[in-house]
Parts: sequence; structure tokens; C-alpha cells
Amino acid sequence: MSTVLDQHGWLQIYGRNEWRSVTPLGPKMTSLPVKKVFAHHSVTADTGVDEATFFANVKTIEKIGLQRFGRASYSFVLDRHLYRVAQMQGGNVGAHTGGHNSTAIGICTIGNFADGPYNEVEVNDVAITMARFLSWAIEHGVVDPAFELKPHNAVKATACPGVIADRLPWIREQAVNSVFGDSSYWRQWDAAPRPTPPAPPPPTPEPPTPTEGMTIRDVELYLTGIDAQIETLGRGLATAHSVIAGHTDQLGDLESDAAQGRRELTAILQDVTGHSASLAAIKKELSQLNRVTDEDIASAMVRLLGD
Ligand SMILES: [Zn+2]
Repeated sequence: MSTVLDQHGWLQIYGRNEWRSVTPLGPKMTSLPVKKVFAHHSVTADTGVDEATFFANVKTIEKIGLQRFGRASYSFVLDRHLYRVAQMQGGNVGAHTGGHNSTAIGICTIGNFADGPYNEVEVNDVAITMARFLSWAIEHGVVDPAFELKPHNAVKATACPGVIADRLPWIREQAVNSVFGDSSYWRQWDAAPRPTPPAPPPPTPEPPTPTEGMTIRDVELYLTGIDAQIETLGRGLATAHSVIAGHTDQLGDLESDAAQGRRELTAILQDVTGHSASLAAIKKELSQLNRVTDEDIASAMVRLLGD
């Protein structure tokens, strides 16, 4: 987990390994930062506050994506409790907003904000979580500061994301202001009663950095790149195996053809040997016939012409 602290409070970001994603990454997005973000709600139940429940809720959403699209569908899943965010596809192409998946990210908040149940305080928490996450995403090069924030139902006939759609202008403004100015709104919302965030964990050793001066974001991108390379190499290896298997089959066929050819050649050579023997016999007979004929002719001539 990467815990991001700013002057406004908390944002807790969980990588795919932490919530134990079991689905593959999509192809890399064509370019980051994105200029469009689509807001979604999961429609699945928001079943609790503790971390295990959060992970279970994220995995439920992953399972739905796996069934429908073969992989986790959203870019990030947001949990209004304790401002938590689970990375799904991150900077890779998801399957959240038809026609926009390779150019936009889809952020999905856990819960049903169309049919409910929800209340005003919960919607406020969702808005704060989204704003904090988008602020982080701007600072980390995932989202362009001049981004558009749209509800899913702006491009599809759907109830998604319910009443959260009404909050998007405010969310976008807060996200941008936390980078380029102060936000008194967050302090105001922070004063509202909510579950107490846990104490910040002690600093954990960062992964070994390939070079000095790299940021955590650089390392994350570096590791994501390595993951993608490993996936590509894996696909290449599978292709090579199947090509080799094909060639092995062909080699087997060629070997069997060659053996058949050798058998046929041996038979032909035997025939030729037999024919040669026959030819020699015929020549010998011919030669004898020739000799007999010459003598016969000579004696016949002698007889014919008289002495
Ligand atoms: Zn949606």
C-alpha cells in the first residue's frame, strides 16, 4: 500500500498484488496523462470498513469484469471508507466505458448510488475520495490537469453513476485546486464524523531503485514496464513453442517421406540390377545369334554359288 499524505489528509493506494488481482493487464494505454475520466459506481454492495472487506468488495468487482470482459474492467476502484483506492488496470486499457477505454480512465466507487441505499454523508465521502484520488492522479502524471470528468451515463444509456454525477463539477474543481491551490472544502468535510483513520504506518523500505533520484512513481512505472515485458516475453515463448511443435510435426512427416523414398529407390535399384542382368543375357544371345548367322550366311553363300 502506498499511503499518500498531503495537507488535506489521507489517500491510501493499493497495488494489484496487495488485493491479489488474478486477472491480466490490458494493453498499455496509448498516452498518459489522460484528458478524460469517467465516473462509475459498482452497483455491488458496500459491505464494510475493514481492509479484508474492502479487498473482498474489490475482488467481487474484478470477478464481474473477468466474466464479462476477461479482465478487471476499471482503471481504479474507490472506497469511500478511509479514502482507499485499489489499482485495477491503472495505466493499461480497461473495459469500463465503451469507445473510450484506450484514451480515458474509469474510476469506480463501491456501492449503488442510483437505487441505494445511500445517504448524503456517504455521497459526500465518495466525492472527497474521488477528488483526493484525482488530485493524486494529476500529481502523478495519470490525469491531465485540464481533464474532463464525465459520468458514465454521458456516453451510454445507464443509471451509472447515480447521484455521484451531480457532484462531478465540485469533485473536478477540488482535484485541480489541491494541486494548484488550497481547498477549504476538504477541511470542512474532514470535520464531519467518520471512521477514524489508522495511524500512519512506519516508513517501509522502498524497492531498490535502479538509479538514484527516481521517484516512487518512476519505480512503479519501471516495475509496470517489467511486468509488461514479462507478459510479452511469455506470449512470445508460447508462440515459439507452438511454432516448434509445428516444425517438429513437419520434420516427422519429412522423415517418414524420406524413409518411404529410400525404400522406393532400393526397389528401383533392384529392378535396374535385374534389367541389367537381363540385358547382358540378351546381348550374349544376340552375339551368339550374330555369330551363327554369319557362319550360316557364309556356308549358304558357298552352297548357293557352288565351288
Ligand atoms: Zn459505469
